[in-house]
Amino acid sequence: MRSTTLFLVIAVLLVGGLWGYGTYIAKPRPPHQRPTGTTSPGDRRVVKSDADWKKQLDRSAYTVLRENGTEWAGSSPLTDEHRPGTFVCAACHNPLFRSTAKFESGTGWPSFYAPILSNAVYTEPDGNRTEVRCAVCDGHLGHVFEDGPDPTGLRYCMNGVAMQFIPVGRKQIN
Ligand SMILES: [Zn+2]
Repeated sequence: MRSTTLFLVIAVLLVGGLWGYGTYIAKPRPPHQRPTGTTSPGDRRVVKSDADWKKQLDRSAYTVLRENGTEWAGSSPLTDEHRPGTFVCAACHNPLFRSTAKFESGTGWPSFYAPILSNAVYTEPDGNRTEVRCAVCDGHLGHVFEDGPDPTGLRYCMNGVAMQFIPVGRKQIN
């Protein structure tokens, strides 16, 4: 009798778990809506389903770009990348920042004072912070703060895992 009860409890938990998992994967989130009037360089847009992003991106990049995650400070080799080149979006390869706009913020995240083009990224309020997203694929990149250096006074605090670095002279792969 007791083992039957135990079996029933386990069965209920199992079915409940599978049901929960099923509802989770069966409910794709709609693509992020850009603020009205947002533009992107060359009007380029990359819009994919959650399932396609999941296939393309590794887990940490997906968590940051598509689920607004934040990588651990100091975890990205791009924080210490000092070669001349371009930082592009890891999801859609939209050029985001030039190495010349990079500075040492001491935060443990790659930091820049300005994007490569003003419409390469767009911002949205995120509580008491300002979120930065890729203007081409809407991927979450990080946040921007007003304690940066000259000439803009801005600090684009980016997740390294949301970007790829293309050194000068190397052709972009993709
Ligand atoms: Zn992108």
